[in-house]
Amino acid sequence: RKYRRELQLRKKCHNELVRLKGNIRVIARVRPITKEDGEGPKAASVVTFDPDDDAVIHLLHKGKPVSFELDKVFSPGASQQDVFQEVQALITSCIDGFNVCIFAYGQTGAGKTYTMEGTRENPGINQRALQLLFSEVQEKAADWEYTITVSVTEIYNEVLRDLLGTEPQEKLEIRLCPDGSGQLYVPGLTEFQVQSVEDINKVFEFGHNNRTTEFTNMNEHSSRSHALLIVTVRGRDCSTGLCTIGKLNLVDLAGSERVGKSGAEGSRLREAQHINKSLSALGDVIAALRSRQGHVPFRNSKLTYLLQDSLNGDSKTLMVVQVSPVEKNSSETLCSLRFAERVRSVELGPGARHT
Ligand code: ADP
Repeated sequence: RKYRRELQLRKKCHNELVRLKGNIRVIARVRPITKEDGEGPKAASVVTFDPDDDAVIHLLHKGKPVSFELDKVFSPGASQQDVFQEVQALITSCIDGFNVCIFAYGQTGAGKTYTMEGTRENPGINQRALQLLFSEVQEKAADWEYTITVSVTEIYNEVLRDLLGTEPQEKLEIRLCPDGSGQLYVPGLTEFQVQSVEDINKVFEFGHNNRTTEFTNMNEHSSRSHALLIVTVRGRDCSTGLCTIGKLNLVDLAGSERVGKSGAEGSRLREAQHINKSLSALGDVIAALRSRQGHVPFRNSKLTYLLQDSLNGDSKTLMVVQVSPVEKNSSETLCSLRFAERVRSVELGPGARHT
């Protein structure tokens, strides 16, 4: 047992070193079984954990055990704070000028929105991230001047929508900053400067209301669209005048289930094709990064284009793969965990910097 522990510690050190080299980190979070899962064998848990290794998850799929190794696995008992603790160092690195991307992936109902947005009583990564950034920059206020701005957007049917805008929507397009920094920006997208903790709540409420008003079935809509919170931290060293800019993208992806397999027509079919397009474009970008292909097809979807400057060699990327524990979802869980393992082997080398 001691030997096993020792091996695990070594593996952890190795993983940490690899992580520092710029790989995509992948963590899994398994949601608890809920009333909606129903009763009986279909609602029984098919996911188990390794008591000695918190990076391993086992799935019983059609009676066969399959194991996956990721960077960390959170069981249903993990709190929002536990998950946040795992990602907070990544988040604060945007104060030092890094581009950071955290995205939640998984089928509808697996807990993506719970992890990113959370509830009023128990907020998720989005709110905790802003609060942390805010308190960190206040601590440095003697030497540095910082501004934190946020944009809230969604991508639905390959159309980017500004959720903080008060004016009628114009068509939003993604552009490369003309300053040669390699950063992307969206002309016309509202950037709201956050100056207090109350401002953070206002932003979320406004964005949320804006998202819900247009669609009658919000659950359906949110499972078919990607929600993005883009936080930009601009800093200026008061003594040297040195400036930094870091961007944090927090993304609640559309459901990864294979939608539109049968019977989808008209607008439903179009939606399904668009979701498939952007999630498969994300898969293609990841595959290209993984095989160190010269060309990375960032521009094949709005989602990958917008995240391009956060998926290159200088960025830090983390994927939270959300998992439903129940038997009836085991095929989708298998797909999600396979995707997670593929993503984990991606190295964001300098060769990935493309325009
Ligand atoms: P998704 O965004 O992937 O469609 P949700 O975040 O809406 O999924 O989660 C589905 C349901 O499960 C919601 O009712 C949510 O509150 C609940 N849920 C998800 N994860 C957790 C968790 N870790 N703890 C408690 N409830 C959760």
